[in-house]
Amino acid sequence: MVREALKYSVVVIGGGIVGSAAAFFLARSGNDLSVAVIEADSTYTHATSPQGAGGVRQQFSRPENIALSTWSLSFYKRFNQEMAGVPDLPDINFRQQGYLFVVSADGEATLCQNQELQASMGVHAQLLDRDELKRRFPSILRDDIALGCYTPDDGWIDPHAGLWGFRRGAMHHGAEYIEGRVNGIEVSKTKGTAVRLADGTVIHAEMIVNTAGPWVGEIAHMTGTELPVVPMCRVQHFWKCAENVEPLPLVKDGRGLFFRPEGTGFAGGRPSFDIEPGFVDDIYRGYFSNYFEETVWPMLAALVPKFEDLHLERSWFGHYAQNLLDGNMIIGSYSPGHDNIITACGFSGHGIMHAPAVGRALAEHVLHGTSQSIDLTRLEFERVRRDEPYAEIGIR
Ligand SMILES: Cc1cc2nc3c(=O)[nH]c(=O)nc-3n(C[C@H](O)[C@H](O)[C@H](O)COP(=O)(O)OP(=O)(O)OC[C@H]3O[C@@H](n4cnc5c(N)ncnc54)[C@H](O)[C@@H]3O)c2cc1C
Repeated sequence: MVREALKYSVVVIGGGIVGSAAAFFLARSGNDLSVAVIEADSTYTHATSPQGAGGVRQQFSRPENIALSTWSLSFYKRFNQEMAGVPDLPDINFRQQGYLFVVSADGEATLCQNQELQASMGVHAQLLDRDELKRRFPSILRDDIALGCYTPDDGWIDPHAGLWGFRRGAMHHGAEYIEGRVNGIEVSKTKGTAVRLADGTVIHAEMIVNTAGPWVGEIAHMTGTELPVVPMCRVQHFWKCAENVEPLPLVKDGRGLFFRPEGTGFAGGRPSFDIEPGFVDDIYRGYFSNYFEETVWPMLAALVPKFEDLHLERSWFGHYAQNLLDGNMIIGSYSPGHDNIITACGFSGHGIMHAPAVGRALAEHVLHGTSQSIDLTRLEFERVRRDEPYAEIGIR
């Protein structure tokens, strides 16, 4: 059925955690904006957000990412107050159990440099030498681990609940969710004017926000722009360990291995850095078929010998929106000649931890033309146009 033409102040394309956070801050802004979120699949079966590990950390090397995390962390801590009055608010289960980066000798200097920057920005970040690491976390025993950086204020959330919390919060403040797939954007000489859905519905908009996650490039194509953002399959696993392990923070090593406690077991994995971009629909055939046994498990057992005796219970996957230029977010307008079409995309694995601050930044872009609370100029599309990467250092 073709709906009659609709008109909104802001149309958000993609209602994952980032689009829903943007809708929440826009609808709550008190600026009398009409906000619509177009979501292709409200079960979120293939969306990235529900598949994430939910880790929220302040351990970055770029001040923008540290600032985004610090504010988002404080928002997640007071999520229930921020969402006061929202009906059926899910529990995001924020667990403040810390983050621990461990590195071998070749990563020491960078870890120290990053810790210094984080501490200078008010992050409680402690360096732990080998003896201190052994004392605090005796299960972590790999011979070559030389240094750790521990941020006890960090933690993790349930990302599915985070997504639905923002979605229900946005609706509570008046945002409308429309189920449909955007397959075209109408433009005039100077701006985007409307989005077209697959069923023929045309939705007019004063501002268009592209937060389509790993599909963001398809939407950008509709107005003739190439974004360096591609879907990249990432697999996670849940296992139980036969032996007792002391309470651990989210642990990450210099090779990208990560895990954290989850219920009576552990969740984690190791991104493969050599797969081809693109959507994967089956991890039990092809590249990932023995990935846990051949790649992840040996790395886990080397870091935590108790993991030699584990039972893999489940594997699942999602797709990063990987920014091939530098692995960092792109925010703001990106479509030449259409300043009212903006995005926040290319999170490459940081979208859950940054969603609150990015949602607020997108609302500021809509209302004021730029991000105001945190200076995100260096994360705008201009660096893509100039082909000037702004990558993290020592953080995978
Ligand atoms: C295994 C794994 C572990 C991760 N761990 C972490 C972690 O620990 N911490 C962290 O911060 N991040 C993590 N991430 C990354 C994080 O999950 C993402 O960065 C984040 O979920 C991105 O949210 P999003 O809203 O941009 O995208 P999505 O959740 O994918 O939402 C995009 C939405 O757009 C919709 N859409 C697409 N095309 C259209 C269209 N044409 N019309 C209408 N709607 C459309 C989709 O249906 C989808 O719902 C992880 C990701 C994976 C896969």
